[in-house]
Amino acid sequence: MTSLSRYAVVGNPIEHSRSPAIHEAFARQCGIALSYERLLAPLDGFADTVRKFFDAGGRGLNVTVPFKEEAFQLARQGLSRRADLAGAVNTLWMQDGRLHGCNTDGVGLLADLRRLGHDPAQRRVLLVGAGGAARGVLLPLLDAGCTQLRIVNRSVERARSLHAEMVARLPEHAARLSCGALSEAGGKWDIVVNATSGSLSGQVPQLPEGLYADRALAYDMVYGARPTAFMEQARARGAARCADGLGMLVGQAAVSFEIWHGILPDTEPVLNRLRAELGAG
Ligand code: NDP
Repeated sequence: MTSLSRYAVVGNPIEHSRSPAIHEAFARQCGIALSYERLLAPLDGFADTVRKFFDAGGRGLNVTVPFKEEAFQLARQGLSRRADLAGAVNTLWMQDGRLHGCNTDGVGLLADLRRLGHDPAQRRVLLVGAGGAARGVLLPLLDAGCTQLRIVNRSVERARSLHAEMVARLPEHAARLSCGALSEAGGKWDIVVNATSGSLSGQVPQLPEGLYADRALAYDMVYGARPTAFMEQARARGAARCADGLGMLVGQAAVSFEIWHGILPDTEPVLNRLRAELGAG
């Protein structure tokens, strides 16, 4: 009996992860046989868990909280440009005997914005938050051709330092980049992305009113069975459309799948099924 190609998502905690269901659905869609499991790594044992997985013939790993920065360090010799700029890795694989890493969160967001009919090209984008998730989406948003990208954060120093690093590393994009405190978010934005973790605890970033341009999209990276607190606030403040981050989750998984299998799966049916399951739960 031939054994299935082995894939997994590693994190701590990990039991909540929807990645196995997403990757198994992609695999069925593409006629690929694989196994995809959840791996709980001890907080001080990530590198060991990764090494054992690949030594035992594992083909690819997704990495989630809190190990994305450690994964970046492990894959230092084989980083994609996206991973290098993000400082974090969510997709690992072995190639030519060396560990490789990519960050697919940003392209996952981009794919979801396009699916929603809000391509950032020629649009003004406000990015709220300056943590790992914000960092991971900056390059794909810039590459997609937004006309302005402003990073605002509760701790203004964190926004400034992320902005300074991006300007130094991507000088060709400097004219489109700016930063500030949440209170300095003012302007009319076509797309407002909430990359804070506030919605996990029902909190909204303290943003000024009047941020949304005509036909603007408010996008929260957090997702759930109901609209998040940020989405509720955005709707009340005039955003034409609000979306949560479930599509980003499926989008980033699709790009990981493509890296490993060479096929970009169709996200729509998988997203629809997850949405229905979330609602039912
Ligand atoms: P980090 O811990 O690195 O950063 C958290 C960010 O949230 C910081 O900017 C922090 O501001 C801000 N923040 C937290 N609480 C508040 C609040 N009450 N008001 C204003 N700002 C607040 O987290 P990540 O960047 O890794 O993740 C952010 C969110 O994105 C998480 O909820 C995560 O689940 C989600 N995510 C979703 C993905 C998807 O596929 N849908 C993929 C990746 C992430 P400060 O610096 O001032 O503390």
